[in-house]
Amino acid sequence: MSQESDWSQRQLQIFKAIADNAGAVIGAKSLDGKYLYVNQQYGKLFHRPLADFLGQTDAQLFPPEIAAQFRRADVMAQKATQAFSVEEVVPVDGLERDFLSMKFPIFSEDGVLFATGLVAADISKIKDLQRQLQNMADHDVLTTCFNRRKIMEIAALHLKKAKRYQQELSVLVFDLDNFKQVNDNFGHAVGDCVLIGFVERVNAELRKPDELGRLGGEEFIAILPDTSAAAATALAERIRKKIASWYPAALQGQMQSCSIGIAGYSVSLQSLDELVAAADHAMYQAKASGRNCVRSF
Ligand code: GH3
Ligand code: MG
Ligand code: MG
Repeated sequence: MSQESDWSQRQLQIFKAIADNAGAVIGAKSLDGKYLYVNQQYGKLFHRPLADFLGQTDAQLFPPEIAAQFRRADVMAQKATQAFSVEEVVPVDGLERDFLSMKFPIFSEDGVLFATGLVAADISKIKDLQRQLQNMADHDVLTTCFNRRKIMEIAALHLKKAKRYQQELSVLVFDLDNFKQVNDNFGHAVGDCVLIGFVERVNAELRKPDELGRLGGEEFIAILPDTSAAAATALAERIRKKIASWYPAALQGQMQSCSIGIAGYSVSLQSLDELVAAADHAMYQAKASGRNCVRSF
């Protein structure tokens, strides 16, 4: 063997070792989508011998929608001048896994495009952690409804939509009545259970597009898109009755009621702050009227 071919053989072995130990799924395909190369991890991921891939297309190896997703990225890589990254969700062993994939065109020595390459790293664990953190950042730990920051963000989006499409939008503000006494008489843990039960019951009455959030303490807000004042009043009254007839077991025969204030997006209530302040004001009117009742701004 000549020294040159000896060296190119060595180089191939080096590149193969790098590819097989890179901790990523690596492959290359011809312009018509046939596999020219896959590393060992590619085969391991899909439980197939490497020979199964070579000369085959994704359409022959994967379900149609996955094959189409891979093909779209390959066609983009053929048109690209340099590597780009895409996040891909791929089912593996019946579970959806997240990959961060680099896709790139491969050129011959004289600059002719003849293949595309991919290097994909499994980022499922990072993605799961990211989703968990996002979930924690958006939700109230105790009741699992949205926290104040998130519900205000959601409310702002709904208000924008209501303005753009000239739709109605109603807001309910809830405050549990005499809740301090619950803590004083039965302890903080029982108070916590009442808050959890309250949110469960309100959620059961809301429609799918409605959103519930905790403003703080024992105060909550519901955003009701596409809902008239009359429909919001009917819903608020239904929730009030449901809570008042609940009698949480831990309160030993004592009822837990709530006061509800309603406000609707209108000419005089244009901003989110005005809308929430108006619903809050109406809620305080309900308190002043003896609690366990609904008032509209
Ligand atoms: P009102 O009918 O006027 O609303 O009277 P209230 O007693 O409900 O109102 P107040 O604002 O005096 O008391 C609210 C209480 O809610 C005081 C606070 O300790 C309690 N609270 C706030 N957050 C929590 C919580 O996360 N868990 C528990 N157990 N109690 C909470
Ligand atoms: Mg209260
Ligand atoms: Mg309060």
